Amino acid sequence: MDINLLVIGMDYAKYLAGRANWIKGSALAEVMKKASELQKKGMKLVSLAAGDPDPDLIPRKVLGEIAREVLQNQPKSVMYTPANGIPELREEISVFLKKYDNLEVSPENIVLTIGGTGALDLLGRVLIDPGDVIITENPSYINTLLAFEQLGAKIEGVIVDNEGMRVDLLEEKIKELKAKGQKIKFIYTIPTGQNPMGVTMSMDRRKALLELASKYDLLIIEDTAYNAMRYEGGDIVPLKALDNEGRVIVAGTFSKVLGTGFRVGWIIAEGDILKKVLMQKQPIDFCAPALSQYIALEYLRRGYFEKYHLNSALLGYKEKRDLMLKALEENLPDAKFTKPIAGMFVMLFLPEEADGIAFASELMEKEGVVVVPGKPFYTDESGKNAIRLNFSRPSKEDIPVGIEKLAKLYKEKFGE
Ligand SMILES: *Cc1c(COP(=O)(O)O)cnc(C)c1O
Repeated sequence: MDINLLVIGMDYAKYLAGRANWIKGSALAEVMKKASELQKKGMKLVSLAAGDPDPDLIPRKVLGEIAREVLQNQPKSVMYTPANGIPELREEISVFLKKYDNLEVSPENIVLTIGGTGALDLLGRVLIDPGDVIITENPSYINTLLAFEQLGAKIEGVIVDNEGMRVDLLEEKIKELKAKGQKIKFIYTIPTGQNPMGVTMSMDRRKALLELASKYDLLIIEDTAYNAMRYEGGDIVPLKALDNEGRVIVAGTFSKVLGTGFRVGWIIAEGDILKKVLMQKQPIDFCAPALSQYIALEYLRRGYFEKYHLNSALLGYKEKRDLMLKALEENLPDAKFTKPIAGMFVMLFLPEEADGIAFASELMEKEGVVVVPGKPFYTDESGKNAIRLNFSRPSKEDIPVGIEKLAKLYKEKFGE
């Protein structure tokens, strides 16, 4: 082949659909691009920028054995599955949720999806009309904000403190939006191990949130991505476990347990929402990956969640969290940062007037440490001084090194 498609220079812009232009270039993509350029030049980087679990804390050898068995013995593992997923896995997930999340869900109310991302996209498609208002935490998980915005939603954020969404400010917000004639569809929340803040919503706030949803007749989408990454806070239960009215719809995933590559997530829903989700799902992606579904099934059936995640990987993540908090406390004793009891992130706040995007860029160039600026996760103009730090992915050696280098630049720029 000597035809280089790149030099033909066809102008495709005129063919593009209007909705293909909805996404703007992101500050996150810029950071990652720059990091890979520096790496190509041979610079050794310490990354605190990930949004993934640690592949070395995932039992890859064991998963490999399961994958081999499944491929050899289960012909269905290479075929389409039913749109809602294989019944055996939905049953196992039902047992899993009861055991570890105190959540009673019938397998019929579970739809297996292509990760939590697929779950959130499907729910958005079924629930959002252009112009609808969605209330989220401010800041919130950027991918979900983008998925909902693509469907024409207007995002309204409610600020987050160490106990999660400031539910005391939520009612004002709802009243204000209603007074303006806005149609609020649902509240999207990541109550446990929030991304990007790392905070977990207290039980009091969970109850207050449900009461408000009931009072104003709103749905709640509960993103449970980090429910299996809890280090403390044993009394915390999902919103769904407190929901007597069917207002809470769950988007869950195995991504943070098995690894983000498997793409197995789920929706918990009932009634018309369940029905419409299933009808939408078929033409969009047919089903979640069959091989991954069968691997997840065997992983649960054999008690590996307990053995390899709860009693092993989770301890590794907790150790890394402790290393990061210790390094921050020692190197930046006066700085403000969150102290997660779940999830994989710490949010660090630079002094009020600082620019986190500029800081992240300087930190990468001068010190070779990659972090994610918090700004893109915010739903308004705030968060300029926020920096998201990941502790799940970097090695135990890299965490203190990265924080020391970050602290060095911090002190150079802002003083002790
Ligand atoms: C990781 C994550 C998800 C889901 O990711 P998938 O890999 O698509 O399962 C959903 N919500 C949040 C907040 C996440 O951090």
